[in-house]
Amino acid sequence: MQLPQKHSATGTTIFTVMSALAAEHNAINLSQGFPDFHIDEQLSRLLGEAAKNGHNQYSPMPGLPALRQAVAASFKKRYGLTVDPDTELTITPGATYAIYTAFTAILQPGDEAIVLEPAYDSYIPNIEMNGAKAVPVALTAPDFHVDWNKVKDAITPRTKAIIVNTPHNPTGAIWSKEDWDQLAELVRDTEIIILSDEVYEQLVLDGKKHNSVLEHEELRQRSFALYSFGKVYNNTGWKIGYCVAPPAFTQAFRRIHQFLCFTVNTPGQYALAGHIAADTAAPVHTIMQQKRDHFLSIMKDTPFTIFKPAAGSYFQIAGYERVSDMPDMEFAQWLTKEHGVATIPVSAFYSNKKDDKLIRFCFAKKEETLDEAVNRLKKIKG
Ligand code: PMP
Ligand code: GLN
Repeated sequence: MQLPQKHSATGTTIFTVMSALAAEHNAINLSQGFPDFHIDEQLSRLLGEAAKNGHNQYSPMPGLPALRQAVAASFKKRYGLTVDPDTELTITPGATYAIYTAFTAILQPGDEAIVLEPAYDSYIPNIEMNGAKAVPVALTAPDFHVDWNKVKDAITPRTKAIIVNTPHNPTGAIWSKEDWDQLAELVRDTEIIILSDEVYEQLVLDGKKHNSVLEHEELRQRSFALYSFGKVYNNTGWKIGYCVAPPAFTQAFRRIHQFLCFTVNTPGQYALAGHIAADTAAPVHTIMQQKRDHFLSIMKDTPFTIFKPAAGSYFQIAGYERVSDMPDMEFAQWLTKEHGVATIPVSAFYSNKKDDKLIRFCFAKKEETLDEAVNRLKKIKG
């Protein structure tokens, strides 16, 4: 039987491939982005209590009201922004799902959607699964800024959406307010909708500030902003996130969401609601700042090149030109098998597999994990 190919990506996602290779070779896994340390004790306690107290049935389709209210209060406190928890906020099973649902709410066959590459690997398949065409535009190395002229050239009368991501996976770059202004200027007289992937919103480092699409009054009116609790509370495996969008967009989003998964894990939502409302946890950027700084300081004694410290996210890009001229996929496999450290080849984030000979390290790990990994890297001859 011939089954249809719903998208153009071949094989299995790189995150699964590299994590499996790490496990097979007993390598330290700095590939897939997830913390290897415990979550806040209060959060795990609240999860247990939610189950014990009988919160084990379906929660309302848009998400638990207490969780939506806690998220809205957090936006107010951190950004001074008003988000209506009833009409503008929907809880989802993670951000990957929220991105797919937003695309599905707006794309029709024949539409085009612009993707800035390197990009998280689900974007293009998600666009294609909706019968639309992905139009990749390359960010400009080495700092991976947006070349707005290239974006302008990519816009056609069929352009329905642009997906952007700040802080950026895999490069750790962040957007300035001027980036948003540039985007606003390009889309002003069009019907283009913005998907703003802000899952690393609370992971901006060096005292800098996250610039959210929600703070841009003009763009906010035409945007879906997508978030993941996993990146804030170090619990990526809970797979809970949310979408913030204006009421008409939220209605369109929920039209799809109600028939895609209907609702999200209830005890997890109770636990998150209680934890966010208590507001006692140390902000995740302070934890991650230490980790990035530590990682960068120990990496100095290895033959890898850090062109620019990550400004945000879990990730640091590095060059290996002093070690090898292998293609990055081959190099990442070699590093895993021969030296016991798994990373992600950056070419995996390009639809044409553009190879700049860069690899991505995840530094969201215990200090001892980073030390052990870097001790292994130090043994490599430059
Ligand atoms: N977008 C980006 C840029 C990511 O790195 C991730 C990582 N998981 C996601 C979306 C998805 O988040 P979630 O795990 O909540 O689906
Ligand atoms: N966002 C994570 C990363 O980039 C992984 C998510 C996934 O495995 N799909 O590593």
